[in-house]
Amino acid sequence: MPIHMGIVCGACGAVHFVATSAAIELSSAIDGMYRLTCQPPCSSTRQFRKDEMRPYRVSEDVFNSGYATQGEYEDLDNYWTGAA
Ligand SMILES: [Zn+2]
Repeated sequence: MPIHMGIVCGACGAVHFVATSAAIELSSAIDGMYRLTCQPPCSSTRQFRKDEMRPYRVSEDVFNSGYATQGEYEDLDNYWTGAA
């Protein structure tokens, strides 16, 4: 499965992909910050910087939907640090 950069919602664990998610927008308040509004019923919001995005392995269908719920993605953070 392909690897895409995404940002995780701390409230529900869903991963949103910056390339396809309609829930991510550039913050107008702070330069270089992005704002994530999670999908209902979570609807949690968080601000993040581009370098907080992490690689996740997901199916192309899930990626195209904009986000992956828990169990639909593989977190590659451990893989990444292990390879360094
Ligand atoms: Zn959420």
